[in-house]
Amino acid sequence: MLDRIITHAEVLRIVADLAPEHRIVGPVLRGGQYFYEILTDLSGLDLTFSYCVYGPRAFLFPPTETLFQFSRQNGRFESTLSIERVPTAFVGVHPCDINAIRLLDRVFSKDHRDEHYLSRRECAFIIGVDCAKECTVGVFCADMHGNVAKDGFDLMLFPLEQGSGPNDMRYGLVFGSKRGEVRLQKGSIGAIPKAADERAMEEYQRRKEAAFPHRLKTRLEELPSLLNRSYDSLLWEATARRCYSCGSCNMACPTCYCFNIFDETDMTLTRGERKREWDGCQLEKFAEVAGPHNFRPKAASRLRHRIFRKAKWVKDQSGIAGCVGCARCDRACTAKINSVEIYNQLAEEI
Ligand code: SF4
Ligand code: SF4
Repeated sequence: MLDRIITHAEVLRIVADLAPEHRIVGPVLRGGQYFYEILTDLSGLDLTFSYCVYGPRAFLFPPTETLFQFSRQNGRFESTLSIERVPTAFVGVHPCDINAIRLLDRVFSKDHRDEHYLSRRECAFIIGVDCAKECTVGVFCADMHGNVAKDGFDLMLFPLEQGSGPNDMRYGLVFGSKRGEVRLQKGSIGAIPKAADERAMEEYQRRKEAAFPHRLKTRLEELPSLLNRSYDSLLWEATARRCYSCGSCNMACPTCYCFNIFDETDMTLTRGERKREWDGCQLEKFAEVAGPHNFRPKAASRLRHRIFRKAKWVKDQSGIAGCVGCARCDRACTAKINSVEIYNQLAEEI
């Protein structure tokens, strides 16, 4: 059921209302591709964009950040927690990226609260925009149920009427949180949906269902057992022969959350910072420990590990799928290693 009907101009009013208290992050066209960036000019905001090269993860979980500062004085160590609270409004987040953020929310709060991530997340406002069709060839979001967002947003826009350009769009709107609802009420924005609008929404959902192709030969629920049977497959070795262990697939992935920790000290060794930076399971040193011993020294075992995490282990641990099917890993891979091909070859083989 819809909560409001809203025009593109009214979406801009909401964003303008958020702007004094939030940095606004949205899709920006650069060199023919879209990237989530901080918006300085809202007038050019185009919510009909295809897809962003990277998800918005870096604004909630930066590639590098300081966790705390420490110092040694009079023989004692002292530390000061470094927590960043920058209210951020994300505008135009597709369902796959909303589902990826839901996963990050879960893993950064489940057993241990990650205050660095959660402080940013708690002051984030998310305006999602639904995808009526696949954003580009190769995505398998319908297979991974990543193309539908049921929660994880404050407001969700459904493009019911296209019009002749971005400025003519008319959206069905659903509240995802109380603060989303309050934001609209505050500005008296949007119209109450009529029966014809609900019919248009039903028709939209039917068209969407038909518009998304399924590329996997295995249903999402069956992927864990497919992988269980495939642990010793020769496919891992055969495919990983092409892998450069560059980690681009990890860096491009909106659901990857592994990081490494290190200290930076000054020349006196009495002051410094503890930092973290993104790490990636495809990188050769990822599983190296003291000794030195590497638990996954071969590219094949690293590739298998990544695929197992995406389609089985993360779901086993968190209850939320570790992959949303956005295919950013596949597009980032110069060796053209392709997730859909891996799953489908395993399905044929086993
Ligand atoms: S593993 Fe690939 S398809 Fe899945 S969420 Fe990450 S980048 Fe997207
Ligand atoms: S992007 Fe491709 S080549 Fe690079 S680590 Fe990932 S699978 Fe290997």
